[in-house]
Parts: sequence; C-alpha cells; structure tokens
Amino acid sequence: MPRYQEKYQWLNIERKFGPWLDSEEFQMVETIRDYMQHHVKPRVWEFEAAFYGGNIDSAWDALTELNEPLVKMGLQRAGIPECYGGLGLSLPCRLAIAEEMARVDMAFTLLSGKAGWVSGTIFASQNEFLKKMIAEKVCSDDFWVGSVCFTEPQGGVNFEDITLQGRTGRVIASMNGDDYVLNGEKVFPGASGPADFFRRKGLKGHLGYLVVANTEVVPENRNCNTIGLFYVPPDAEGLSFSTPYKKMGVTLDINRGIYFDDVRIPKEYRVGGPGLDAELYYGTILAGCILGGACRLVGLASGLFDKAIENTSVREIEGRPLREYSLWAAIIGEMAEKIITARAAYMYAAYTIQHPEIYGKMWDEDGPRNLCSGVRDVAGQAFRWVSERTMDLCAAYGYTCESGVEKIIRDAQIAIISPGGAQRDKLDMALLYYRRNWIGKAK
Ligand SMILES: Cc1cc2nc3c(=O)[nH]c(=O)nc-3n(C[C@H](O)[C@H](O)[C@H](O)COP(=O)(O)OP(=O)(O)OC[C@H]3O[C@@H](n4cnc5c(N)ncnc54)[C@H](O)[C@@H]3O)c2cc1C
Repeated sequence: MPRYQEKYQWLNIERKFGPWLDSEEFQMVETIRDYMQHHVKPRVWEFEAAFYGGNIDSAWDALTELNEPLVKMGLQRAGIPECYGGLGLSLPCRLAIAEEMARVDMAFTLLSGKAGWVSGTIFASQNEFLKKMIAEKVCSDDFWVGSVCFTEPQGGVNFEDITLQGRTGRVIASMNGDDYVLNGEKVFPGASGPADFFRRKGLKGHLGYLVVANTEVVPENRNCNTIGLFYVPPDAEGLSFSTPYKKMGVTLDINRGIYFDDVRIPKEYRVGGPGLDAELYYGTILAGCILGGACRLVGLASGLFDKAIENTSVREIEGRPLREYSLWAAIIGEMAEKIITARAAYMYAAYTIQHPEIYGKMWDEDGPRNLCSGVRDVAGQAFRWVSERTMDLCAAYGYTCESGVEKIIRDAQIAIISPGGAQRDKLDMALLYYRRNWIGKAK
C-alpha cells in the first residue's frame, strides 16, 4: 500500500502525536491514516445514500467492504487485552486512531468502533462469562456491530447525571427466579434494529445491546447500587424496534427506538453487578464515549482544516492564492492553534485515566470522567470555531455538497450532543472542584 504523503510536516503522525505514542504506535496510526486517506476518503459519499433518499443497503455494502481490511489489521480488537486475543493498544494510541479516522468520515468511524464500545465495557468488568463470549467474536477477522442503550424518551441528559443516580430512568429490570426481566423504552441507540439486517456480506452480525436499567422501581429509593447494566442478545424475545430516525448527519448509522416487553435474560448477563454497573455506566460507557467524541471532534476539525488549506491555495486574487494574504493566513494559523490545543487537552484526559494513583478512579465523583467531559467541550468549541472559519474561507464552495464541508459540519454535531451536551460537560467539570448536589430530590 503506498504511504499517504502529507504535504505539511506538521500533519505527520510523529509530530502530531509525538508526546503520547511510541514508535510502534506511530506505525499503527500511520497505517490506518494511510488506508483512510487512500481508500475510504474517495468513497465517503457512498455512505450518504440514506440522506439523499437512496438505498441504505448500498451504503452498508460500502461500509462492510471498506471496513474489512481494518478488521484484519486488528482495529476491532484494538482495546482488548492480548491474553484474550486482542491487541491491547494503549488508550492514547486508540484515540489517535479515532482522530485520524474521523478526519475522513465520522459515520464510518462510529460504526467500525461500535463493537469496541460494547466489548470495551465488558472488558472493564469482572464478568468472565461475557468476556469469553464477546472475545470469541470480536477477536476474529469478522466484522461485528453492537449497541449501547441508555437514553430514554423523557430526557437523555438527566439519566446521564451522576448526581441524580438513575432517578429519572423508567426502564426497569426486575429479578424473576434466576433471570432478569426488562421492560420499558430506550431511544436513539445506534446500529440498532432487527438482527437479520446485520447479517450481510462482510458483516457477521450484531453482538447485542448493553442496556442501562434500574433494578429499583421507586425513584426515591434508587442509588448507584440500583443502576444495572445488562447484555441483551440481538434476537431476544420481547425486543422490538421503531422505524429508523431521519437525521441530519451520520446517516450511515441506523438509530431507532427500542422496546423491551418482558425481555428475559439469564442473571449472568448482568455485566458488573450492584455498584460496579454504575461505575461501568458513568465511567466507561459515558466517559469513554465522551472522550471518543473529543478526539473525533479534533479529527473532524482537522478534516475541515485540510479543506480550508486546499481551497485557499487554489482560490486566487490577481494570481496570488488567498492563503498568502495575511488576513487569511492568520485565520489558518488560529485554526491550527485550536486543533492542537484540543488534541493536547484530550490526551491530558487520557493521561489522567492511565494514572489513577494520582487522579483517582475514572468513576470517582471528582475523577477523570469529569475531565473527559470538559475536554469534549473544549473540542466542541474548537470544532465550531473552525467550522465557521472554514465557511468564511471557502464561501460558496463550502456551501456546496461537493466540497464535503457541509457534510463534516452535519456529522460533527452528534459528537457535541451525545452523550450529554456542552452544558452537561461544564457541570461535570465543576465536579472536579466541589461537590455539587444542586438538583435536589426527584419529585
Ligand atoms: C445520532 C445520535 C446517536 C445517538 N446514539 C445513542 C446511542 O447509541 N445510545 C444511546 O443511549 N443514546 C444515543 N443517542 C442519544 C443521545 O445520547 C442523547 O440525545 C443525548 O444524551 C442528549 O439527550 P437528549 O437529547 O434527551 O437531551 P435533553 O436531555 O433533552 O437535553 C437538552 C439540552 O439541555 C441540556 N440539559 C439537560 N439537562 C440539563 C441540566 N440538568 N443542566 C444543564 N443542562 C442540561 C443538555 O445539555 C442539552 O443541551 C444518540 C443521539 C443521536 C442524535
């Protein structure tokens, strides 16, 4: 495979990720970066079929075909420990890979990482039964997708608020003999739907759903011990779905409402157990996704930066490219500042996760999870600033679909709002400095 040639040295993997990766990791990130730039980038429009009223099947054919080499490179098992058949890549390395992938396409990046979201959560638990079951699938050369369900129709953000301890949630998991029985409704889980849809050429199937539910019915009696995390197989009896939502971005992914009508699962499918499930929810599922959002936002901003720098080199005033004028050069310089600062911020959060002896455990009330929210907000603000400037620089060309600028702007919004949102991020950040219990008891 020919190596992707970066025209600008400061975009080289070693310069970008120098302080955080070793030489072996540079190579892994570089290989994936090259693949994304050479093979995926020219075909990103194929992922947009659903947005333009086309056929979602052809979009998924492109996804499965293009993702196959990445699965073979080990991307799907990147975070799983080597003793289970994974690559055991470091957190900074996985974040750098996600950044480089999002620089090319957000939806492709999300879907190729869905199995990692599910397996990463299970591997953060002590549940050997589920670990073995999942490792057998995701550590193979087959492509799998999976799904995580926490948002509920009455409001997503409050159910993600650690200070509310699940009091606003309505999906209930009750113990019945040796089984749990789940009832209620979740909204928006990505890669969701009838199991058959996910058995297709190049895609082995759906791993299943990780579902956050309350084990206590009465909201006032809830606490972190009554938050449960459950593995639900993709074809479990009692599971049904709404039609896919129509969305402004990441249209390759399929989001639906999901209904649990007496869905019965064995007790071994409870992932961590009382207390641990809350840690996995707040610390691994939410914070992991938020940190993933931060690095992807940096990647998306870099994708816009690529376009701005190209466009201002071909657009000229009296034979002189726009970027030669100091007005535009200063804007480009400031774009780069925002991107580099946001990258340093998310890598700092990764460092705090890797050093619990200094910063505490991920899920502590004042632990690194809150910093992850703060750096996602920083990355979101950087993205929004860069996107406005890109529109200024590219003008009408940026407004056209052909430029790809508007697609990146549409796709990026999800990384800012889910999970949580910019306001929630700031509230989490405040938890690093004082105990906040302002919301009081749920009525
Ligand atoms: C494309 C897409 C993919 C998604 N994928 C998944 C998925 O895979 N799994 C899943 O479970 N969910 C998923 N979601 C749902 C997503 O996580 C939620 O939309 C998100 O968490 C925000 O919840 P909400 O939309 O209900 O906003 P709301 O809870 O209605 O919040 C609205 C606004 O108010 C702010 N706000 C709310 N409460 C407070 C407060 N107490 N203090 C300050 N500000 C507050 C929020 O920051 C937000 O800006 C997805 C959503 C989308 C659009």
